[in-house]
Amino acid sequence: MALQELIDAAQRIVFFGGAGVSTESGIPDFRSQDGLYHQKYPWPPEEILSHTFFERLPEEFFRFYRDKMLPLDAEPNDAHLKLAELERAGKLTAVVTQNIDGLHTKAGSKKVYELHGSIWRNYCTRCGAFYGPEYIRDSSGIPHCTCGGVIKPDVVLYEEGLDEDIISGAVHAIRNADLMIVAGTSLTVYPAAGLLRYFRGKNLVLINRDATPYDSEATLVIHDSVGKVLNGISVNENNKQ
Ligand code: ZN
Repeated sequence: MALQELIDAAQRIVFFGGAGVSTESGIPDFRSQDGLYHQKYPWPPEEILSHTFFERLPEEFFRFYRDKMLPLDAEPNDAHLKLAELERAGKLTAVVTQNIDGLHTKAGSKKVYELHGSIWRNYCTRCGAFYGPEYIRDSSGIPHCTCGGVIKPDVVLYEEGLDEDIISGAVHAIRNADLMIVAGTSLTVYPAAGLLRYFRGKNLVLINRDATPYDSEATLVIHDSVGKVLNGISVNENNKQ
């Protein structure tokens, strides 16, 4: 069955997206190391983006973070835009994402579970004051609050736990979905595979350039660009069916 038919028949779609959804907006997946990092940083990105590293070498953390993790000018691509359209049409109940770039929200999606947080939110570790991402970008060295505390991006670093409210919201949406579309992830990184277990609906669609361990369990597998595939979908509102 084609993706269009599955979407037409669905009423509660949940989209689960990984880094591959953002790479089409020009945001590199730091897990697919291309050697660039090694030329400029003596540590692998996984080490820099860890809680221990943030505590020990915050200046180096922010040097990397400003350089690689703050693509504030990035724009939503066809995948983000189509998902927002599906939500407006009452077809899609939630987007669950592992990305921290905020592009789903920028595209107009309202119900977004950002498992790993967002670069658009930053908080003082002492008084809890909120800071936008521009403040981090435009500061130098370690960004400090007016109270003197260090400002920390609201992103989940390695060694840190996921936000329980966000997890339970995502689980609830997945449990009640009748169609789950998983895209741009190899489904090997925690917690992607774990969340998939909560899906009890009929149809699972996987869109990824490369094969995943779950390909054999899916109703439909598409090895192609997420933006290209979703761009080809036309949105019919539920109440028009
Ligand atoms: Zn403060």
